[in-house]
Amino acid sequence: MNRCAAALIAAFLAAVPLAARGETAPPKLAQLEPPPPAASGASGSIDPEAATRAYLARQTSAEKARSDAYFEGGYWLDLWGFLWAAAAYLVLLHTGVSARMRDLSERLTRVRPLQIGAYWVQFLVAVAIMSLPLTVYRDFVREHRYGLSNLTFAAWLGELGKGLAISAVLGGLAMMILYALVRRLPRTWWIWGATASVVFGAFFALIVPVVIVPIFNSPKRLTDQRVVAPILSLARASGIGAHDVWEVDASKQSNRISANVSGLFGTERITLNDNLLRRASLPEIQAVMGHEMGHYVLNHIHKALLQFGIVIVAGFALLKTLFERLRRTPRWQVRGIDDVAGLPLAALLFTSYLFLLTPVLNTMVRVQEYEADLYGLNASAQPDGFAQVSLKLGEYRKLEPGPVEEFVLFDHPSGRTRIHAAMRWKAEHPETWSGPAQAHGPPR
Ligand SMILES: [Zn+2]
Repeated sequence: MNRCAAALIAAFLAAVPLAARGETAPPKLAQLEPPPPAASGASGSIDPEAATRAYLARQTSAEKARSDAYFEGGYWLDLWGFLWAAAAYLVLLHTGVSARMRDLSERLTRVRPLQIGAYWVQFLVAVAIMSLPLTVYRDFVREHRYGLSNLTFAAWLGELGKGLAISAVLGGLAMMILYALVRRLPRTWWIWGATASVVFGAFFALIVPVVIVPIFNSPKRLTDQRVVAPILSLARASGIGAHDVWEVDASKQSNRISANVSGLFGTERITLNDNLLRRASLPEIQAVMGHEMGHYVLNHIHKALLQFGIVIVAGFALLKTLFERLRRTPRWQVRGIDDVAGLPLAALLFTSYLFLLTPVLNTMVRVQEYEADLYGLNASAQPDGFAQVSLKLGEYRKLEPGPVEEFVLFDHPSGRTRIHAAMRWKAEHPETWSGPAQAHGPPR
């Protein structure tokens, strides 16, 4: 299912309380592993290529095989996920189920927006049920097989249910607005619909940290000053007026380390997850936080909304043209673009469009991620922390893809690209080297 659409609605379930903020004993901070000799600078110089290779060599061949298998399997799952969803949409159309769901909605109520909402809920449930086998395999069985998930099946199903409920509400509202635009503005809806989609995206970004995240996790303010003080110092140096750093109990779901900056128009928050906090040293945490602050300082959320707005307006224009040609298949009983029974066809066309645009969408995101990497290196001055944490991310992301593979399929720079950027930075900053140059002291 479209996670954005799904996620889009929980604002209205906003009565979710922030979980109690439990005090925890300060965790023992991990120590940064010393850089490999080729990356230390002790010899008086650093060759970025050799330093990158030395870091990459820290991943054993068994770890590499496992990480590559997990990540490459993900490519196929993306393809199967797309084909599976496409098949589900066609089944709904071709069996006449979609038309019957519309008829039922029309019998339930005369209020048109409510008909759209009633259809949307049926559609969501039907697609979720048809997709369930793949969803269980991809998000539960396989995650457990790779040791990445910590959820029991019951807890996992519970989260799936919460996600569906959020989709029902937020997606339903978005659909009511989109179909109202289609009906009122039959010639220009594709422009206004795309504009509305950007507004939905902004609204969703706004509520994620304060409404959506607390539905699944219990974010709390990080109190350990050994970690908070250097992060806030980094924030002040970047012109970010943050007073808090947030920690989220991601270990409830998964063993992945991560951090993020989320929110918009005043709800922005920099959050690191407890796996990162538990497993990473301070230089690694600083490197990651520098990256996250880069997203913030470089206004990446605003830029992404604009970029996706362009993608959506082109997609809606295409949808407008193709929909009218295809909808006349008699068995589908779709009356027109403003008939909600045609939603599976619209979804089929739009997801196909997005699927074909995979390299473009990935590149849009990856370019921002690379910008944030460079910002983070300059801000944190922790090249070894960044290299080390890139290796940790390499536990579930392929470290060394081919160039075409990275361009088409990666929505973040690969581990190799990131470590190379760090080593290139370090080569130009002898004050961060070990040995004689260290007399100047590396930035802390
Ligand atoms: Zn990022």
